[in-house]
Amino acid sequence: MRAGQYQDLSDLHSEGLALTASYVFADAEDAAEKFAGRRPGNVYVRFSNPTTAAFEQRIAAMEGADAAVAVGSGMAAYTAVALGLLSAGDHVVLGDGMFGTTPRFFRTYMEKFGVSVTIADVRDLGQWRAAVRDETAMFVLETPTNPMMHVADLRALSALAAERGIVLVVDNTLCTPVLQNPLALGADLVIHSAAKYIDGQGRCGGGVVAGRTDLLKPVAEVLRTAGPSPSAFNSWVFLKSLETLPIRMREHSRNATLLAEWLEEHPAVEEVYYTGLEKHPQRELVDAQQSGHGGLVSFTVRGDQRDAWNVVDNLSLISVTTNIGDTKSMITHPASTTHGRMSLYEKERAGIAPNLLRVSVGLEDVSDLMADLDQALRTVDARSS
Ligand SMILES: *Cc1c(COP(=O)(O)O)cnc(C)c1O
Repeated sequence: MRAGQYQDLSDLHSEGLALTASYVFADAEDAAEKFAGRRPGNVYVRFSNPTTAAFEQRIAAMEGADAAVAVGSGMAAYTAVALGLLSAGDHVVLGDGMFGTTPRFFRTYMEKFGVSVTIADVRDLGQWRAAVRDETAMFVLETPTNPMMHVADLRALSALAAERGIVLVVDNTLCTPVLQNPLALGADLVIHSAAKYIDGQGRCGGGVVAGRTDLLKPVAEVLRTAGPSPSAFNSWVFLKSLETLPIRMREHSRNATLLAEWLEEHPAVEEVYYTGLEKHPQRELVDAQQSGHGGLVSFTVRGDQRDAWNVVDNLSLISVTTNIGDTKSMITHPASTTHGRMSLYEKERAGIAPNLLRVSVGLEDVSDLMADLDQALRTVDARSS
């Protein structure tokens, strides 16, 4: 065997890193059978990889899915799902408050090819019911949303989707399979950006789609034909990360709950948004479908954008970055960064206030995070007094 060319999964322990562009066939017939898809096995880097297959199997097991397909990024997961399952003339209902690039993808590219899009409030089943048309082929949503922490009733939405033959796609990046299993609540497909909690240390980009085999087949075909395929190296990093995902998610949730409760009592803080707070308006629903709350906490500081920026600029332990899901804590000012392209009207409707901040709570000692935020929040007190 030539270096860098593996014959099949059997050549390698599945947790090893298989860096190879192509695979050697046993003979001409083996090549013909594998190319035609009549015999399982690896053919070419764009189609499949043993390390990636191990990552896919583990994600499928964690999500309770038949199978999973790994792709190059979270947005590549949306691209593969949309290209694989939608056609011109179809209609899609998107949840509000989604990761900003997701509605932009559907509006910029899918609408261009004749797929129409409606946005509905994830908390309001009536809006979803009203949005459904004969051509509605897909519901796509995130729960909880970020940064406002609105929660969708997955059982109710999946019942509506099933009744109308609509595919329900849930982006589970924030909760990960550790805290929420949308498929068990009736969703058809789950999407993840692996760059967030799945990696957990902000090293690699990637994405994955999990769900039913019949729906994943056309999604996998998109990789083979359109090419948003993952890197084997990244799959190998994610495989290692999955070993600590349950323990990390529990600790992110614990730190974030303590921090959210502490922020609620802080005199320089107006409002705190976190599904783990007793006063979360959808508390019962949260408890019925999530087994934890994750690491994202949003809050408004007393004052305006200047005050919010002051807090950001005076932090020392918490870094200023728009990423989420890292072991290190990070803060962002959504109105001027992640949601900066929204109009003032859209921001107001979505609750993205000028004094809103979002913390991705990491795994540091929570008292250090409180101390850092406390000294930064004092700058608000100083300005308003
Ligand atoms: C980051 C993110 C995405 C996009 O994933 P990429 O890996 O950045 O392409 C999609 N959904 C959610 C919820 C995200 O946080």
